[in-house]
Amino acid sequence: MTRSSVRGRLAPSPTGYLHLGNARSFLLAWLQVRALGGEIILRIEDVDAARAVQGADRAIVEDLAWLGLDWDNPLDGRFYQSQRLDNYTTALSNLHSRGLLYECFCSRRELDSIASAPHGVAGPRYPGTCREFGEREREQRRRTKQPALRLRIPDPCPVEFNDLVAGFQRTDLARSAGDFILARADGVIGYQLAVVVDDIAHGITHVLRGDDLLESTPRQIHLHRLLGNTPPHFAHVPLLLGTDGARLAKRHGAVSLAELRAAGADPQRVVGYLASSCGLRDVAEPCAPHELIAGFDLSRIGREPTVWRGEGEEWELPCTSRRCPNTPPTSSQSSRGTDDYPHSMAHPPPSVRHSGNARSVRQEGRNSHGRLDNDARQHSGTNVHNATDG
Ligand SMILES: [Zn+2]
Repeated sequence: MTRSSVRGRLAPSPTGYLHLGNARSFLLAWLQVRALGGEIILRIEDVDAARAVQGADRAIVEDLAWLGLDWDNPLDGRFYQSQRLDNYTTALSNLHSRGLLYECFCSRRELDSIASAPHGVAGPRYPGTCREFGEREREQRRRTKQPALRLRIPDPCPVEFNDLVAGFQRTDLARSAGDFILARADGVIGYQLAVVVDDIAHGITHVLRGDDLLESTPRQIHLHRLLGNTPPHFAHVPLLLGTDGARLAKRHGAVSLAELRAAGADPQRVVGYLASSCGLRDVAEPCAPHELIAGFDLSRIGREPTVWRGEGEEWELPCTSRRCPNTPPTSSQSSRGTDDYPHSMAHPPPSVRHSGNARSVRQEGRNSHGRLDNDARQHSGTNVHNATDG
């Protein structure tokens, strides 16, 4: 692989199918790097193999290509975290040999019962129960319980960084995260470690992803430094939300790219909508991703989440799911598969037309995600980008 001074990554997790929200973050990640003349690595984040949905990796790759995104993996090979476990084990050994890890024997029930402990970004902060166990104690506990491995976080552990979209961030890891897990008791490598090891191995200089992962970033920056690497530049972009304020999901209607693709939607129209929804373009005119490179400007990206209303009036992509709550009753059904092609798909592909007058979805005033400490918990239960970590 040729070395570029700028390198980013598209890092979907095959825990589900790509929806419009994931697609928007990936489009922006791709644009940021292409606008800087950099290379893109596609990496499938399937380190937790039990959570992977069979076939989702292939569908996601097809969806990304359908949108018009490309990447520069050598020989178009794909990086799967599940095939890179040796790298993570090596990093663990490195940290272990420096006395930075310790075994945690706490059961899930014990961890659940510490709800009264101070809360960090990912729930109750681990109170350090197993931190100072001596060798004899550990030896005894190992007989009945496989330990997880936690990283010792010094107190205090200030981490600061300048997010290219969310702005300046400062947190104390000892307060916000505490000693976090790098390897689970069942042997599965922790997401934070896998991502950092991969970003170092791939020479990633720029990470752009959804702001639900802003809370992960201080932990990842800390790991980068422990592993002797200068952390990449981070940019966390607002999410696309449903009208109920939750992240886009099946219940919000036809939001998966696979559905749109199957219904014959025009990918350039999807790209045009996504670009306008985050402020890159004033109107949602159909366009290919590469047409957005020249005018790409991170400062145009709004700081507020966008609400996707799914209304044909605002965005005339056809609703392709009969479960779409915004699908009005239709009097004339398509002659082909009425269930799959409601009203607006009465004339399905290849004759799906652009109206050219689709308007940008209005941005709703919501809490800014610019402040890490105040807002991180808002999305702490979410993990898309462990899903899309783009
Ligand atoms: Zn413990």
